[in-house]
Amino acid sequence: MSDTAHAHANTPCSPEETEAFLAVADEIAEARGQRMTRIRRKVLQLLIEAPEPAKAYDLLERLDGEGSAKPPTVYRALDFLQELGLAHKIESLNAYVACGHASHRHSAIFLICEKCGRAEELHSVTTTEALKSETEAAGFTLSRAVIEARGLCRTCAA
Ligand SMILES: [Zn+2]
Ligand SMILES: [Zn+2]
Ligand SMILES: [Zn+2]
Repeated sequence: MSDTAHAHANTPCSPEETEAFLAVADEIAEARGQRMTRIRRKVLQLLIEAPEPAKAYDLLERLDGEGSAKPPTVYRALDFLQELGLAHKIESLNAYVACGHASHRHSAIFLICEKCGRAEELHSVTTTEALKSETEAAGFTLSRAVIEARGLCRTCAA
């Protein structure tokens, strides 16, 4: 591991290509006895391709032409994607992002840039483990967590 690799906080755990990402999503859904329906697939695709965290109504707008896409349909698809760990909701932005780390157990830790508004999910392993053991010590059974860290991204800090 070089220093440059460490400087890049977000280790890609999933393919960057949309099609490859969707293929991984199919496998994850299948392993859970679930199915990526047309709408779930389309919503995930929009999230993968969105340059910034996407709001539900933006997704709904871009789903135009997908027939019966209504708000509840989009929210159900987003819930499904979150359950499978394929997407996360960033509460403070009220927006959603595709998860590139679905292949390993993790809590979602977002690095949110206060200047450009981009949100990057940190590849977190030790933080996830620490959170698990410390919540367990408090007698709490953790099901999922989304941590929102605010500051300046690499580009804006440069
Ligand atoms: Zn994630
Ligand atoms: Zn920035
Ligand atoms: Zn990862």
